[in-house]
Amino acid sequence: MATHSTAAGGKSRPARAGVTDFFQRTLDSLLSHMAVLRPDGTIVAVNAAWNAFAAGNGLAESHCGPGANYLDVCDAAEGDCAEQATLTARGIRDVGRGRTPSFQMEYPCHSPTERHWFVVRATRFAVGAEVFVVVTHDDVTQRKVAEQALQEANRLLEVLATTDGLTGVANRRRFDRTLALEWERHARSATPLSLLLVDVDHFKKYNDSRGHQEGDHCLREIAGALGESAVRPGDLVARYGGEEFAIVLPETGRPGAMTIAEAVRGRLHLRGLPHGAPGAGPLVTLSIGCATMTPGRVDPADALVERADRALYEAKAAGRDQARHSD
Ligand code: GH3
Ligand code: MG
Ligand code: MG
Repeated sequence: MATHSTAAGGKSRPARAGVTDFFQRTLDSLLSHMAVLRPDGTIVAVNAAWNAFAAGNGLAESHCGPGANYLDVCDAAEGDCAEQATLTARGIRDVGRGRTPSFQMEYPCHSPTERHWFVVRATRFAVGAEVFVVVTHDDVTQRKVAEQALQEANRLLEVLATTDGLTGVANRRRFDRTLALEWERHARSATPLSLLLVDVDHFKKYNDSRGHQEGDHCLREIAGALGESAVRPGDLVARYGGEEFAIVLPETGRPGAMTIAEAVRGRLHLRGLPHGAPGAGPLVTLSIGCATMTPGRVDPADALVERADRALYEAKAAGRDQARHSD
């Protein structure tokens, strides 16, 4: 014990009041709001931080100081934090009765103007036959706000890392990840998975005649048309690379895949993006390769991409501005 300094300093032991004062000052130096209770909730001692917090919340010392009953205060709590107060009271009672060695709860307690989070802890100790419960209460708002900011930053980072910067659709990384996951899932459920590979026709000529900025604008328009056409929750539109896009269509057979492919072409025709470079038609058009597979346990997802790619090649070879299915 820090007060046993007789051997080293030759001083006598502090008097009883001195010990109490010593411990009170120690408690007062802590930032945690702290109270020592009897198991029935009667407050035996509190520290300065507890008093300051109670005063800041409009609670008189008669409510939260020594002699008051903290469990009664919790039970009588009203408003937004009443539920947390009830849970706190239950936790303290459980600790006081020895049902559990400790209790801890983190909870939000927001006012209309300020957001706050707290952690309340209760532990018990005994002096002879007497049991006491130490309740500490910490404002963890700063940590919580930092945690939430970090979570939001991570979420944004994840979005940035999986989104194509030019068109706003999923990027190749997300496409690869999604296709692999869907492939596994469809292998388990033995259901058909379709893939469309979409390639802009004569896009080099488009850039050459209108410039790259117009070309970029055109790619954004095409991404928009794709997004309007593949609207089921599991559908994924991605930029596969350059002027090629991909659409993953879960639980979709050949007819459904061809319907979406034609919808994409129709939506783009509706946008009426002019092309007109020598050798190209008057409007920007798309060639689309479709493939549908019910994944086997041994096939890799690449098999679906290969088939869609072959169908795309056939669509190009047959004169462009059309969709072909690999089957
Ligand atoms: P095809 O009809 O056979 O598909 O002909 P194509 O000209 O579309 O195909 P090719 O592969 O010869 O050219 C693709 C062009 O796409 C060349 C490239 O400059 C352009 N491209 C790729 N990515 C972008 C981009 O991000 N922005 C712009 N503006 N152009 C791009
Ligand atoms: Mg291409
Ligand atoms: Mg092309």
